[in-house]
Amino acid sequence: MTNTTDPGGDVRLTGIAKTYGAFTAVHPLDLTVPQGSFFALLGASGCGKTTTLRMIAGLEEPSAGTVFLGDQDVTALPPYKRPVNTVFQSYALFPHLDIFENVAFGLRRRGLKSVKKQVEEMLELVQLGEQARKKPHQLSGGQQQRVAVARALINHPKVLLLDEPLGALDLKLRRQMQLELKRIQTEVGITFIHVTHDQEEAMTMADTVAVMNAGRVEQLGSPAELYENPRTTFVANFLGTSNFIEAEVDSKSGGEIVLKAGGGKLVLPEARCSAPASTGGKVLVGVRPEKISLTHADDAGEIPEGRNRITGRIADSSFIGVSTQYVVDSPVCSDFEVYAQNIDRDPRLVPGAEVVLHWNPAHTFGLDAAQS
Ligand code: ATP
Repeated sequence: MTNTTDPGGDVRLTGIAKTYGAFTAVHPLDLTVPQGSFFALLGASGCGKTTTLRMIAGLEEPSAGTVFLGDQDVTALPPYKRPVNTVFQSYALFPHLDIFENVAFGLRRRGLKSVKKQVEEMLELVQLGEQARKKPHQLSGGQQQRVAVARALINHPKVLLLDEPLGALDLKLRRQMQLELKRIQTEVGITFIHVTHDQEEAMTMADTVAVMNAGRVEQLGSPAELYENPRTTFVANFLGTSNFIEAEVDSKSGGEIVLKAGGGKLVLPEARCSAPASTGGKVLVGVRPEKISLTHADDAGEIPEGRNRITGRIADSSFIGVSTQYVVDSPVCSDFEVYAQNIDRDPRLVPGAEVVLHWNPAHTFGLDAAQS
């Protein structure tokens, strides 16, 4: 791995695709992963994320397209000649070797004699300096996963590929390891490409997330961009909960789209609309439950001007500590979900109450109703 010319730089996939007989696991895909970034491929089981990762690793031969590492075309290189290493969900540690020797393995295989300093540095990086002489079975799942990371990093790959590396851990450990992996990536500064089906995991760790669906990237962006401005219903639903209202474009001016929904009007910033939005056309208007405020209908006059508003009736409410989750039926949308913080909670907001739901138009996003 170290005797290849230095191919550091972005990972670039151009027209990369994978078919198995008549089945297309990955449709032709163009994707750039910036050097030094923490990048996540996120999607449900079977969407093609592992296949994409394996094509970068060289473990799967693409049916079409090219894999570049920096300027180097590595498509035809076998895995061991790529400056890339992979950490899998099954840590695949050698059970008979202690932690030190597990991490040293790659260096010894290359014939290096003095490995002590490098291995110790790597064990420090993953905070396992004290565990060097233990065997894998004497470590927790999270610690074993960190050994696997240290073992993968010791040969100084330019890119570390992580295939659901936290999948076998319980929730608490996973959360710890998410922060731990992020810290390690920041410290070593190389590109990490992480495959996961867990949206929280991808959002916690990654600078950029590619949301995959049925062999295609549906949307690419920072976690905040994807959450705040999803461009398809799939992305909106995969990353959290969304409410949708079918609306009709009434007019456009000053960067804003005015829409008709039921008897009322909603405002949507043009920049947050991924639908064509021609006058008279349909747009699916989305808003996240935690962006909505709930006011009893008797107090509707107190709602500030300029907010999007719809009327409805509380169908259900559940107190969940810090917030209360309401389900509201409205003429424009049944089962509207609202998460309201429990600060000065209005005791009148109980099932049956007439309410006004209102929110800042800046939190509204618009999707193509025809594609949804
Ligand atoms: P998971 O999270 O379950 O691993 P994934 O998103 O990583 O899912 P892939 O493993 O990339 O999905 O698989 C994508 C699709 O390709 C799936 O429908 C899978 O059944 C199919 N597939 C993968 N490998 C093969 C193969 N060797 N032969 C035939 N079909 C395959």
